[in-house]
Amino acid sequence: MPTRAFAATSPTSPLGPHAIERREPTPGDVEIEILYCGVCHTDLHFARDEWGFTSFPVVPGHEILGRVTRVGEAVTRFSPGDPAAVGCLVDSCRTCASCKADQEQFCLGGAVFTYNGEDKHLGGMTYGGYSEKIVVDEAFTLKVPAGLDPAGAAPLLCAGITTYSPLRRWNAGPGKKVGIVGLGGLGHMGVKFARAFGAHTVLFTTSEGKVADGKRLGADEVVISKDEAQMEAHAGSFDMILDTVSADHDLNAYLNLLKLDGSLVLVGAPPNPQPVSVFGLFMPRRHLSGSLIGGIAETQEMLDFCGEHGIVCEIEQIRIQQINEAYERMLRSDVKYRFVIDMASIRA
Ligand code: NAP
Ligand code: ZN
Ligand code: ZN
Repeated sequence: MPTRAFAATSPTSPLGPHAIERREPTPGDVEIEILYCGVCHTDLHFARDEWGFTSFPVVPGHEILGRVTRVGEAVTRFSPGDPAAVGCLVDSCRTCASCKADQEQFCLGGAVFTYNGEDKHLGGMTYGGYSEKIVVDEAFTLKVPAGLDPAGAAPLLCAGITTYSPLRRWNAGPGKKVGIVGLGGLGHMGVKFARAFGAHTVLFTTSEGKVADGKRLGADEVVISKDEAQMEAHAGSFDMILDTVSADHDLNAYLNLLKLDGSLVLVGAPPNPQPVSVFGLFMPRRHLSGSLIGGIAETQEMLDFCGEHGIVCEIEQIRIQQINEAYERMLRSDVKYRFVIDMASIRA
């Protein structure tokens, strides 16, 4: 099916209209009209080939929320008219140890990511949510809890799960001191979840103008990370710090804030390697880890948690035609706190 989309055709070209092909739904597929798509910093890294493995043209977008328009005959959980969501994954082998453990993002056969992944149906690459519709296997389609604002819920599909999953895994909760580095799309959800889980939550930001918002979003304390005295006041005190920063920054400054057996968990993905002093890891013993989105079951758990607690993202709606300007603002850390594209604009 010919489908309208927005794509980058080279690392230096702005995104613009681009026609793509979507498959006819197979018996196990759900066809979704995309209503909203969040703008993740990963979209920008890919569009500009900052990680070095983009296949062009690339249609970014993996925070997809929409309405079911058609289902294959074997689909049981969705009917036309239902709300539905798609995150960063659209397929995996479903048989390997990772898939059996509900960690499809680490599929040993190769998870199929929503864009720039290998399209097993049509060949070529998968295309993401900056488009009018998408066809996805039911097993990778998420239910959206009633009552959540659909535009505000869209970024839960990446920013939400990417922060929820490590905060759960490292047991952020009562009695724990948890830091969140960076108040962007991921970071603001990290603050909301750490607070909702009952941890003492500290936001680290480079932006003095975000202090009040950090507190309003749930931080017990806000530290301006450029201020050495403020940083030093927290030395050796954290159980966990979740780092969402997208650009070069000093990891050692955060390692020094961990207590014995505390963990610095990286989810932000700066294109360059970030130097680490081993002494910061020895003295006292500390842990450096990473985390990648979350599996499908945990993504559904996160959405259900948000439904129960009324948690959505703070968003600024844009039209698809404003996407290049939105990328520039995201690079300046000037977004409160996630751009979400009203995909009706692609049909305008
Ligand atoms: P974002 O909205 O642009 O937020 C990033 C934040 O990092 C900014 O708001 C800013 O916060 C801070 N920051 C930016 N440049 C900085 C610098 N030079 N030094 C210190 N702090 C800086 O981006 P996002 O969508 O949240 O994504 C963040 C990163 O996570 C990206 O690299 C993205 O690719 C990655 N990501 C990873 C996963 C995963 O599964 N691991 C999933 C999604 C995204 P302040 O203004 O508060 O300082
Ligand atoms: Zn993302
Ligand atoms: Zn697998």
